[in-house]
Amino acid sequence: MDYQKLADLLFPDIDKTPEDYEAMYPARDLPAGTPVTRLGPSPTGFIHLGNLYGAFVDERLAHQHGGLFLLRIEDTDDKRFVEGAVETVIDSLDYFGIHFDEGASKEGEIGDYGPYHQSDRGPLYRCFAKKLVAEGKAYPCFMTEEEIAAIRAEQESQKLTPGIYGSFAKCRDLTIEEVQAHLDAGETPVIRLRSQGNPEEPAQIHVQDAIRGELTMPENFQDVVIIKTMGLPTYHFAHACDDHLMRVTHVIRGEEWLSSLPIHYELFTALGFEVPMYCHTAVLMKVDENGNKRKLSKRKDPELALDFYKELGYHPLAVREYLLTILNSNYEEWRMANPDTDCDEFPFTLEKMSTSGALFDIAKLNDVSKDVLVKIPAKELYDFLTGWAKTYKPEVLPLLEDEDYILKILDLGRSGNKPRKDFVSASQMFDFISYFFDDYYKLEDEIPEQVSQEDAAKILDAYLATYDHSDEQPVWFDKIRTLGTELGYAAKPKDFKKNPDDYKGHVGHVSGVIRLAIVGRASSPDVWEIQQILGEERTKARIAKMRKNL
Ligand code: GLU
Repeated sequence: MDYQKLADLLFPDIDKTPEDYEAMYPARDLPAGTPVTRLGPSPTGFIHLGNLYGAFVDERLAHQHGGLFLLRIEDTDDKRFVEGAVETVIDSLDYFGIHFDEGASKEGEIGDYGPYHQSDRGPLYRCFAKKLVAEGKAYPCFMTEEEIAAIRAEQESQKLTPGIYGSFAKCRDLTIEEVQAHLDAGETPVIRLRSQGNPEEPAQIHVQDAIRGELTMPENFQDVVIIKTMGLPTYHFAHACDDHLMRVTHVIRGEEWLSSLPIHYELFTALGFEVPMYCHTAVLMKVDENGNKRKLSKRKDPELALDFYKELGYHPLAVREYLLTILNSNYEEWRMANPDTDCDEFPFTLEKMSTSGALFDIAKLNDVSKDVLVKIPAKELYDFLTGWAKTYKPEVLPLLEDEDYILKILDLGRSGNKPRKDFVSASQMFDFISYFFDDYYKLEDEIPEQVSQEDAAKILDAYLATYDHSDEQPVWFDKIRTLGTELGYAAKPKDFKKNPDDYKGHVGHVSGVIRLAIVGRASSPDVWEIQQILGEERTKARIAKMRKNL
């Protein structure tokens, strides 16, 4: 069989050679061993936590070692293309501090290894497919969908491995004349790999994975499609050509690709390309309402979508910090030893990544977020909050206009060596401080059960009667103590604990009534400080209002 003739017959339009492309995309001018990584999203418009998780590994690995991180758009599947999806990917990742050095960008493509949209790389894939055909390593296949379905049915009934391989690969040995006849009849073939694997007794292959160590798996024996009828490549073939020609050193992708690794290994070998370092990341899991560990699902789990975090106003630093805790098992230990160091200083390693399902836990994210936000200065928090509100809660912007007022509120209880960790996200922050705005103030809790309705009225009356806005905090609290004792409440909680029968309750219950009047809630930062921010008039008005409603 003259394979070169077959190649020319199938790809008359391909005038470049693989050597031309090798010369166009030379080895990168980087010190040996410098990582080059890539993210290859499909432009479906949905970007999820798994993408961010993977992108983070790409980004850390590249940037930590002076390497390079590129964005390649995997758009060979027309059906999945959504307008504006590329911008969505870029913007969503940008929000979390993930930036690309090369590839698709909002201002066009950047870099010498493009095009970076797979749909623009058709001739390149066909050139390498032509090479494989010319070497007898690939062939045109004209089987119809019906024929393939019939083969599958037969394989099922005989309990055989499904697929096109061995004697099921009907077009493997067509003569040039037969191929010509199909073409003359107007048929368009797919191009299949002529697999060298042994379907009867597959040999074992060994592939390096930087996260999982050496992988041993049975070789591929399927004649997989490498070029589809429209002339575009399958994922497998594009992966081999692109990652080789873009000189990618580390292929970081989800573990769902592990099962097709033998195909990729055979393709790289057939093409004469060096196999990259694979890094198959663990799938993101959660513990659901019933206590079962399961994969995060697009349908069931809103927290899988990255927009979820933006809408709720999670601070990008908090999400980054949290992702590091699930990415590397030694991160938390490092953080404890280096509480004030930038998280980018953490020496991230692939070896310390989980292989058995990374557990995503919103409660843990919230805790991490509190630790992160407590360290962010009030002015920055203010900018973050207003930035978020502009997009997601514009109706509250007028309330946030008085910057000095809001800064005092945001800093409440955050100084000293045990600062309050009240803030989780922008939306929660607004809810948390909303009692400072009269329109949002509402009674959310009840009077402490130790205090009767009648006593509550007496407490508020006495409080208002003796209220002096210029009282320092100790004086202010003494007054509450005094009015409480007069009504039969212990001056100290421990006195009440010792002799509960001697008192109605203690000073905490008395001040609870005042807190409820001022804040509308049973717990809050220091009431005296809140009053100082609210001002005398508003403070008195709130006390009076609650008194009236009792
Ligand atoms: N386009 C593939 C995906 O979206 C990329 C996989 C890879 O990183 O190789 O799943």
